[in-house]
Amino acid sequence: MDPAVRVTPFWEQYCRLKAQHPDAILWTRMGDFYEMFEEDARVAARELHITLTSREFGKDFRVPLAGVPYHAAESYLARLIRKGFHVAICEQVSEAGHGLVEREVLRVVTPGTLTEPALLPQRSNNYLAALLWTDAAGGLAYVDVSTGEFYLVQFDGDAATAMLEAELRRLAPAECLTPRDQAEPFDVPGHRTVREPWQFEEGGAREQLALQFHTQSLAAFGCDGRPLATACAGAVLRYLGQTNPALLPLLTSLRGYAPGSYMQLDGQSRRNLNLTRGAYGSQEGSLLATLDCTQSAIGARLLRRQLGQPLLDVVGIVARQDIVAALLDDRMLRAELRRLLSRVLDIERTSSRMHSGSATPREVWVLGQSLKVARAMQRLAACASPTLQTMLRPLDGCDDLAALINGALTEPGAGKTIADGHSDELDALRASSNADRAWMGELEVRERTRTGIRSLKVAVNKVFGYYIEVTNPNRALVPLEYVRKQTVAGAERYVTPELKDVEARLLRADDDLEALESRLFVNLLRRLARHADRLHATAQRIAELDVACALAEIADQERWVRPSVDESTALDIVNGRHPVVERAIGAEGFIPNDCHLGADGPQALLITGPNMAGKSTYLRQVALIALLAQIGSYVPAEAARIGLVDRIFTRVGAHDDLAGGASTFMMEMMETATICRQATARSLIVLDEVGRGTSTEDGSALAQAVLEHLHDHVQARTLFATHFRSLVQDVEHLPRLAPYTFAVLELSGQVAFTHRIASGVADRSYGLHVARLAGVPENIVLRAQALLDAAVTGQGRDCGPGGHPRPGYGERLRSLDTEASDGTRDRSRSGTLATDPSSGSAHSYAPPVVEAGETPALPATLPEALPIPGHLSALLRELEQLDLVQTTPLQALVKLADVQQAARRLLDR
Ligand code: ADP
Repeated sequence: MDPAVRVTPFWEQYCRLKAQHPDAILWTRMGDFYEMFEEDARVAARELHITLTSREFGKDFRVPLAGVPYHAAESYLARLIRKGFHVAICEQVSEAGHGLVEREVLRVVTPGTLTEPALLPQRSNNYLAALLWTDAAGGLAYVDVSTGEFYLVQFDGDAATAMLEAELRRLAPAECLTPRDQAEPFDVPGHRTVREPWQFEEGGAREQLALQFHTQSLAAFGCDGRPLATACAGAVLRYLGQTNPALLPLLTSLRGYAPGSYMQLDGQSRRNLNLTRGAYGSQEGSLLATLDCTQSAIGARLLRRQLGQPLLDVVGIVARQDIVAALLDDRMLRAELRRLLSRVLDIERTSSRMHSGSATPREVWVLGQSLKVARAMQRLAACASPTLQTMLRPLDGCDDLAALINGALTEPGAGKTIADGHSDELDALRASSNADRAWMGELEVRERTRTGIRSLKVAVNKVFGYYIEVTNPNRALVPLEYVRKQTVAGAERYVTPELKDVEARLLRADDDLEALESRLFVNLLRRLARHADRLHATAQRIAELDVACALAEIADQERWVRPSVDESTALDIVNGRHPVVERAIGAEGFIPNDCHLGADGPQALLITGPNMAGKSTYLRQVALIALLAQIGSYVPAEAARIGLVDRIFTRVGAHDDLAGGASTFMMEMMETATICRQATARSLIVLDEVGRGTSTEDGSALAQAVLEHLHDHVQARTLFATHFRSLVQDVEHLPRLAPYTFAVLELSGQVAFTHRIASGVADRSYGLHVARLAGVPENIVLRAQALLDAAVTGQGRDCGPGGHPRPGYGERLRSLDTEASDGTRDRSRSGTLATDPSSGSAHSYAPPVVEAGETPALPATLPEALPIPGHLSALLRELEQLDLVQTTPLQALVKLADVQQAARRLLDR
């Protein structure tokens, strides 16, 4: 700007304010609008699709301008924040009058400091995190300013960075503060806000924290021994102090926890298991979506947190299970609790907003209603079991606060905020204003009687206020004290000195009433804020009840059972199901499967089977059942015993991180490396297709080496699915490993996946069948079949199109041939069960059952010469005509029962 230009005082004020917030879009309150100028205006016009205009703030000094109306500001704010902008909100802090109104930036809104209910995700937390790391440690502090939760955790040792990343992925913060001079070791989630390194100094942080919590020692807050995390907590406080100091009083406590306090899951495993997000990134199709039938937002948030932090202590798990069990048993009580829970609004966030003075009267009134519901829940303790009584009795309905709110506020929509009887001053003001209003209301009748003018009217308009209107024929009757104000067609309008007095009193009273009501409301907020801890405790207990009710409801609806959880290394699941897949395809369609690992069973299962057989589903279902057990939930199975799992590692499916410079195979190996290094004997490892991204030779060698390492050194419970069928033989020497596969039925040229796991090895891949199912053109499938047949019969070299020999290609097919024709694996090419499910009960550890040269379970075809007795042929025909692909498991069972009865009848003859 040219220094010679003389700008208005407002512009000077604006420039001062903008200089303090160069990184934020500055919203300056001017009357009914928030205005933006210069570059901020351009950005806002572009991002919000609002009009860009300009305005003069000095002679020949015009600046770009864009504005949003004050009453619709929230939706514009939400859009800017969602796009990653920070918005500094500058309000008028002095009364409009003569001269320039004083203005101040009261708050900078950022993704991690939102408090407006409409801008926050209701059923999940909105975290602001700060992180700091060195080569050997990682510190993290995070806060949800809408609820007041404030935590810190520090990770030390080789895996510190990986653990820091995993924790951040669990939290999915809306905003992360990082020091300017450090390049992040991983892709930081959420919006990243860079801060000056000095803001992360531990010494300053300790001072800041001591000041915040009015204490000298920070030991009680878990800061000792966690210097990086403490520095992060300080950075969080500093940031809040700069963006919105009104939030600071909310933070009354800080809790430190050790990384090993909960079951650990890295980001990859969380994603693979679809804990909170389904395959397409939304919550749909996730475990959370299946599980979450909580009734309140506070319950939903707690469930999400618990799902992210499965417990590691049996006592804690059993305590949670006891509550779920009691609620499962008492259906009536559960139904009543759930009915009440659905009426509880967000006590936690409202009480935080009260604390920071930003709650609205409507929110507080609703809080009062929710407290009444809490009280009603507490009363249910009288008819509850002893276990539930321990939960319900301590529920503080905060009767005194509910009564205070009830006595102070009127129901929203009643036209006034503060109830009659709450304040003598207010009541007196209202009484005198009501008297004036009544005087005004009766004026018309009074004046008509007094003057004898029957058409006299008392009315009001914006320009003149109240007036008395007399039509021209009656002008002669107008009393002397009437003062003429306006002439209109056919009539004159008058006022009287008394009318003017009463009108002035009425106007003043309206202003006074408004000011007094808002003063009384602020006082009410202050009184309630003193009880924020009690309100938070009530919210926490209601959330726990809601989660327990939801888990009981799911267990009831979906026939889940209570797992036994202990310190062993057992993982025994009888007829386990995948909760999400079962929900998607329906309970009748889902085939349950067992899993027996650790303790008396094998330590690792090597699972082969064709594509689409159900391997990934099975791997995930075992991991999910262990995880559900450790959050205190029932599990989808007939019975389960889970020895505590300290970490679940999964590598399921392939994905690239091309943007991050890693190919599919590189990613696969990086994840495998993490697992091999970090897993312990208590971990559960779920690996799908290790070595798929490279050549067969490399891949199977790597797969074998990884499996040997996990088996011999890590000794963790492991599920290892592979398409390298030869691997089964290669690892036969591992004593605690058992081969399992998914049985496939092949009859009359049709293939049906049974989705049933059994001891044994896959006979072949059924790739062509899957290709056909997937819609690959029939000519290609037939050609592939010809190539495969030629390879199997040893003519691989002659099978090129047009009969040209193709060296090399045939070799690969022959290697398949070797696998497929070595007696073991070729035994059921057609018309047989690919595995023997009768041997497949995995209840007890069965050594590999498939021996080379073993005869098939059923003959491929009946010898032609075999005479079929007449009474058998009907049965065989019935079987022959069965369309297995179309038959549901239930129908199959029914049919099997018929066949069994027929067989019994035949044998009895
Ligand atoms: P794979 O990993 O062997 O290729 P998936 O686990 O991806 O197979 O399963 C393939 C399909 O089979 C899935 O779409 C799933 O719906 C279905 N499926 C898997 N397991 C079962 C089961 N136990 N019962 C019924 N359907 C199943």
